Amino acid sequence: MSLSREEKRKRSAESQARYRAKYPERIKAAKARYRAEYPEKLKVSRAKTTAKRAEHYRQVAAKYRAEHRAQLNEHARQYRLDHLEECHARNLDHYYKNKETYDERSRQWFDANRERSNKLCRNNYWKDPEKRRADSLKYSKDHPEQIKLNLSRRRARKKGATGKHTIQDIIDLYEKQAGMCAACGVPLQRSGKQKYQIDHIVPLSPRNGGKSGSHDISNIQLLCRSCNSSKSNLSQEEWLKRRLR
Ligand SMILES: [Zn+2]
Repeated sequence: MSLSREEKRKRSAESQARYRAKYPERIKAAKARYRAEYPEKLKVSRAKTTAKRAEHYRQVAAKYRAEHRAQLNEHARQYRLDHLEECHARNLDHYYKNKETYDERSRQWFDANRERSNKLCRNNYWKDPEKRRADSLKYSKDHPEQIKLNLSRRRARKKGATGKHTIQDIIDLYEKQAGMCAACGVPLQRSGKQKYQIDHIVPLSPRNGGKSGSHDISNIQLLCRSCNSSKSNLSQEEWLKRRLR
């Protein structure tokens, strides 16, 4: 009588179990041999086990969080209250380590929510006007270059010019001009009396009419004081003609 496949499998499993129970030493030795012979396979299978276990714990933790959300939130809130300074320091640290990402993200938000952000700023201002004014004074004192740039941009806007440039653009331009006046080649300083002056190649309000120039860096050149005052609001061509006369 032939056995069914099912029955065969069952018997074989039973006999293996008997063997294992009878010769534990042999099993142990065989396992050790396998481990010594196939270290790579062992590594792979261990990695699989680790990943599986990690996934399991993730699921357990997620389930726990979902079931105890209110309790956990309350706990976190209490923790923040008890460790205010610590949390603040950690947040700051995290911010400075990821400053570029955060700044870019907030720039995008402000661009996309201009009206809302203006309103928020206004509200914030009126919460403590004294402090805001003090902050703004301190900012002006610490960033004179930026303030100058903002003012020049506002003047350009008033004259109907579009475009803008940054402090870095000016620094790059200074490097590009090798630190010399774009017109006469005299060396320009980054600060002090001999500091470069910012000139609009096509003036914002041309003296002899014509299209006004933009405030974009492509329309900017750095001149020495004397060249800048002689060019004033003349176009580049007009100015050169006058100098050659
Ligand atoms: Zn010059």
